[in-house]
Amino acid sequence: MDTPLIILGAGMAGLGLARQWRARNPDRPLTLITADSGDDYSKPLLSTGFAKGLPPERLAQRSAIEVADHLGAVVRTRTRVTSLDPEARCLWVGEERLDFGQLVLATGAVPRPPFVIPEKLAGKVFTINDLDDYRGFQRALAALGRPARVAIIGSGLVGCEFANDLHAGGHLVDLIAPEPAPLARLLPEPLGRALGEAMAEAGIVLHAGRLLTTMAAETQGVALSLDDGQALAADLVLVATGLVPRVELAAAAGLTTSAEGIVTDRYLGTSAAGIYALGDAACVAGVNAMYVQPLQAAAKALAATLSGTPTPVSYGPWPVLVKTPLLPVVSLPPRESPARWRIEGEGRDLAALAEDIDGRLIGFALTGAAVRRKVELARVAPPLLV
Ligand code: FAD
Repeated sequence: MDTPLIILGAGMAGLGLARQWRARNPDRPLTLITADSGDDYSKPLLSTGFAKGLPPERLAQRSAIEVADHLGAVVRTRTRVTSLDPEARCLWVGEERLDFGQLVLATGAVPRPPFVIPEKLAGKVFTINDLDDYRGFQRALAALGRPARVAIIGSGLVGCEFANDLHAGGHLVDLIAPEPAPLARLLPEPLGRALGEAMAEAGIVLHAGRLLTTMAAETQGVALSLDDGQALAADLVLVATGLVPRVELAAAAGLTTSAEGIVTDRYLGTSAAGIYALGDAACVAGVNAMYVQPLQAAAKALAATLSGTPTPVSYGPWPVLVKTPLLPVVSLPPRESPARWRIEGEGRDLAALAEDIDGRLIGFALTGAAVRRKVELARVAPPLLV
């Protein structure tokens, strides 16, 4: 029998590729390996579930067994691959050797708190990056049996979405971050301030420009202190200080990696023959976009390449939609620093246009009613990867 295609990772990238590849290869052997439960779920929904009180089962579209059945694949769940040997073309799970014909690394990205979370705070301090994490946080919320006081550290996309969602679910939210306004990597400051105002008006307590200095376990929860001396009390803490691509396995095997991910060409090929990468783990021709549309395009192109039709991937001018119903946000951040931001609109309905030295649009950000301009502006903005 053929050695299988092994896809390492069963997130949206790994599963998306498996579906596309299976459609072209009905009979070839396929193995999916994942360190988590292997449930098929949409990760973006994790930051919308608390408002609706959605239990984790409602977020999973299919169990791992159903995935295996549907794809005609071997699906290995709760299985952590410990090393990779590109020459011998095999993976190791502890002492167990798994040979592959071709291998795809779809290992995602991992939250990197800027501090070590003390063991004493286990069960009180969380990160949420997969369905298992969501399960754990939901259990902790439910155990309180009342609205929780949640301190969120970090006001990027994940921090802001959870702040809005937990607030909508009836919880009391403190949002703490060192930047002067939320979504600093996606929005120029006036638009970030508009979002901050909308959140504050709704009752989210924003600690912009503040660093967390200490966190200590209390009988009832967690005591936090900020760099201005302020003391806060929370039942639970959610750390949302960013994600970094999971490259350790690839790096230890000698594949080329960078801080942006496992380095691939436009065909998703890594520096090792027969090994490919996509999704949050991969830096494709210099770009690691870390959102769904690019990984879907990559899955489609890679399925064709792995089926004998070499196909380069390209990304369009695809903006990020931030799920903050308190003030809708859309952003296509410019890849280089713009010569100027031109800001139009009033109140919280703002459009910020990033222009180069010749006045060409190289990115944009929209808030409130201005999000309607998304399609019109995306038509003239440059693609992420041509
Ligand atoms: P992951 O889903 O992280 O999957 C990685 C897989 O690799 C997992 O199965 C893991 O178990 C496995 N793995 C890793 N290492 C090993 C190992 N050694 N052995 C075995 N298995 C291993 N994007 C949008 O476009 N729109 C949104 O609205 C949006 N909202 C988001 C909200 C939140 C809260 C978050 C966290 C992200 C959001 N994103 C959004 C980003 C988007 O969800 C991600 O880009 C995408 O889900 C990444 O998928 P992935 O398959 O690359 O990685």
